Amino acid sequence: MDMPITIPVTMKYESNAQIQEATDGGVLGYTDVREQNHRVRVIVHVPYGQSYDRTIHLLTHELTHCWECEHHMHLSRTLMEGLAEYTSWVRLRADGDRAELRVIETNPALTYLRGFQQIRRMVTQNGLCATLAELTATGRRTSYR
Ligand SMILES: [Zn+2]
Repeated sequence: MDMPITIPVTMKYESNAQIQEATDGGVLGYTDVREQNHRVRVIVHVPYGQSYDRTIHLLTHELTHCWECEHHMHLSRTLMEGLAEYTSWVRLRADGDRAELRVIETNPALTYLRGFQQIRRMVTQNGLCATLAELTATGRRTSYR
């Protein structure tokens, strides 16, 4: 069994223009995972100047990708983005009924929306722990690359 590994994470606040330029556009933030000299390096890029709720959304989303990386998860892009959106949704919901919840629930980017809906359905049916265990096991069996 692969044990989770501890990966140092660096966080970079950048302008939205820098993030769009680095990713060819269309994303709000991103996580850069690189291997250098046999060491994994993770940098989370989040735009500054966003609302508190949007910042919480993006940080939770990107840190979930770090967690997925630490647990060697190689899920489909839909499930990876869906889990990141789901954890953000749970975090935001802890603060009450926030407008940012609707951003997740109605995201026009279908990979994110369908992934969120799929993870939410799995958690409703099986609970969070069983869902994470299933995703971790699935991620180790399959590769989307
Ligand atoms: Zn993502």
